[in-house]
Amino acid sequence: MHADQVFRKFDVQKRFYGQLRERFGLAAQPAIRVIGKVVDAYTARNANLKAGNYGRPGSDRRRKVHDTPIMFRPQAGQPFDARCLSWQLGDAGREGTVSIWTTAGRLKDVRLAGSAVQMALLRSRSIGETDLVYRDGMWLLHAAVDIIETSQREPLNGFMGVDLGIVNIATTSDGDQFSGSRLNRHRRRQLRLRRRLQAKKTSSARRLLKKRRRKEARFATDVNHQVSKNIVAEAERTGHGIAVEELTGIRARVRLRKPQRATLHSWAFAQLGQFLTFKAQRAGVAVVQVDPAYTSQTCHVCGHVDKRNRRSQAVFHCGRCDFVGHADHNAALNIAARGVQRWGEVKRPHAAPILAARTAAASLRTAASGGRHPRSLTDEPMTVSEGPAARWAGLVRVVAW
Ligand SMILES: [Zn+2]
Repeated sequence: MHADQVFRKFDVQKRFYGQLRERFGLAAQPAIRVIGKVVDAYTARNANLKAGNYGRPGSDRRRKVHDTPIMFRPQAGQPFDARCLSWQLGDAGREGTVSIWTTAGRLKDVRLAGSAVQMALLRSRSIGETDLVYRDGMWLLHAAVDIIETSQREPLNGFMGVDLGIVNIATTSDGDQFSGSRLNRHRRRQLRLRRRLQAKKTSSARRLLKKRRRKEARFATDVNHQVSKNIVAEAERTGHGIAVEELTGIRARVRLRKPQRATLHSWAFAQLGQFLTFKAQRAGVAVVQVDPAYTSQTCHVCGHVDKRNRRSQAVFHCGRCDFVGHADHNAALNIAARGVQRWGEVKRPHAAPILAARTAAASLRTAASGGRHPRSLTDEPMTVSEGPAARWAGLVRVVAW
């Protein structure tokens, strides 16, 4: 593909399908899968080149990427579908077998084991595409299953806003706070260990590094599962919908000073937003994503916007109405208010106040891009969802998780 500069799936199949089957003895379906995988890899690379992710046109780095054919490790992940992989899972238990196509023919009765939850999912849902992955001396199957869609209930008590952060992983407008100290302590420790390993440039050190990175990722994923589970359960109990900041561009938005940047894994940040959305949808809890611009600088009581309102990492003090509270809690209350608006846009697109709010937000953005600092979002106070949130202003309770 690289030599001939042929990248479109249709063209690639026409050109290489026959050769692929003949030279490597691949059956029809695996040959198509191989083509699909390589086409995907080139599509991603070409998109990255185009987006400038490998530098400007003409730069050495960009030329090098462009001129180098994509290579795959011998044990790189490989996608399988129902024609090349079939499951025999029985009725219960944590074991089963698969029959899987290989270059040495079909391997039957290959034993597999999974957690109780994973096995139950595999048994009860239709299994889609599955990746075979080799990791840390183990062969793993990553299977995608269909989730039955639950319809989202109209929230009885408005929306719970969730502010995501580093110092506090999540703060809700109800005043629940999930501290990031355990996670950040773990990250700092891993970082120290990693530095020490990086200094040694042996292959065993590299292997260990990889293992540590995965362990760290697992830890963060586990934390995200627990935190999101907790928040969704609370929203369900209190009859709230959930509002989170928009997940697209979440990485680009996270701007921090250098020492913090090292402790931040932006993917973990985005993952928590994904888990929240996914778990809420699964539970039938209404969930909306809102524009997070200025939520940390805006007073949730009077709507006054000023960077100086945020006095420190933790303290928010409004320069106009004198409201004092926890900065992340204030941001969560703003996100909750925007959640109510957003839900209105989704459910009742004709409601007038929403349009007014959007215009105000747009003019605010214009003012900001003009270099002047916005003083106020609007003269009208922002609407905050009713319920316990309003009374909790300024108080947060730390949730053990
Ligand atoms: Zn205020």
